[in-house]
Amino acid sequence: MIKCITCGAEYDLGEIIYTCKECGSILEVTCEPDVSKDVFNCRKSTMWKYKEFMPVDPARIVTLEEGGTPFCKCDKLGEELGVELYVKVEGSNPTGSFKDRGMSVGITKAMELGVSTVGCASTGNTSASLAAYAARAGLRCVVLLPSGKVALGKLAQAMFHGAEVLSIRGNFDEALETVTALALEGKLYLLNSVNPFRLEGQKSIGFEIVDDLGWKSPDRIILPVGNAGNISAIWKGINEFHRAGFMEDLPMMTGIQAEGAAPIVRAIRENKKDIVPFENPETIATAIRIGAPVSALKAIRAINESGGFAETVTDEEILSAQKLLARTEGIGVEPASAASIAGLKKLVENGEVDKNEQVVCIVTGHLLKDPNTAIDACVKPVEIDADINELSRILSQG
Ligand SMILES: *Cc1c(COP(=O)(O)O)cnc(C)c1O
Ligand SMILES: [Zn+2]
Repeated sequence: MIKCITCGAEYDLGEIIYTCKECGSILEVTCEPDVSKDVFNCRKSTMWKYKEFMPVDPARIVTLEEGGTPFCKCDKLGEELGVELYVKVEGSNPTGSFKDRGMSVGITKAMELGVSTVGCASTGNTSASLAAYAARAGLRCVVLLPSGKVALGKLAQAMFHGAEVLSIRGNFDEALETVTALALEGKLYLLNSVNPFRLEGQKSIGFEIVDDLGWKSPDRIILPVGNAGNISAIWKGINEFHRAGFMEDLPMMTGIQAEGAAPIVRAIRENKKDIVPFENPETIATAIRIGAPVSALKAIRAINESGGFAETVTDEEILSAQKLLARTEGIGVEPASAASIAGLKKLVENGEVDKNEQVVCIVTGHLLKDPNTAIDACVKPVEIDADINELSRILSQG
């Protein structure tokens, strides 16, 4: 079933619907399979390892073998920050971000529905992922991007996989409003995270964390929050495993936003159930440069129900955490992803996170997504002749 999270109205899984017809609120797919966790044994390590929890026909999935991403124990950085730290590296997905998990389910659903055109608005990664999965499925793909605000690698991917790329004079929120109106006219199947099937794929991040820890919950999961779909999806997945009896405890869901785009943090601080949008969201972390998060209601519930927290970080803190993670642990992530590390650092410093907590930081996208920001953060290479004496002179200075 597809169910409204506010009034509980129910809709058939075969209906194309993005918001509740009764009350206008957002929807979720209900999923309560009756399986033992032993069924997962000996399966390939992709998100389809947990196919019983996916609301599509497993015999006809569109997949690039997404999921099964590295779960790196980070002893050096953990010691520096004072916690037991694991980093879930979502940049290792096929197109370099966690969006692939959602797109695999979303495009599979699109094929089941028999649509011919799919579309999205995107800060970059959603379009990169949609373009690739639409190509694999043979569907027409239209993506709307905020002009001048999309990182280079993401733009290259969307264009190269053959999407029809439209550059919108406006920000992400305006692009989403436009493409949603088109979807409601039936002109395309919308694959933004308001589509509840996207979140069904992304909940597998939660499954994998629990599986990787030996069927246990960490104390806390920290991740960057933009449109707020991912934090909602992970909490949903964790709860499904919990209700299935696969684990006992639950993690504190902790969302980090950029200071210039922080409507969820503001709502949590003011103890509100919904957000007031940021009109002109601004941050160097373009993947979370979002003023009116679609899944805000779900995210605020996830944070409150789990006893979690929400915090902001500045662009400067993001860039310094991005470099810290790259140089301490060898994990290269795009700026938005580093918000989770920057947030952890801040929350340990202000005492919100206890020393020795077991923390999982989710890093959402690959360093190469945004090469310009990476290069700008470094000193230029020294240019020399191909001469051993000059080389040796320079190395002896280091
Ligand atoms: C999409 C994205 C986010 C934000 O996720 P939401 O589900 O919109 O909160 C964060 N980081 C990266 C790299 C992303 O692509
Ligand atoms: Zn409703």
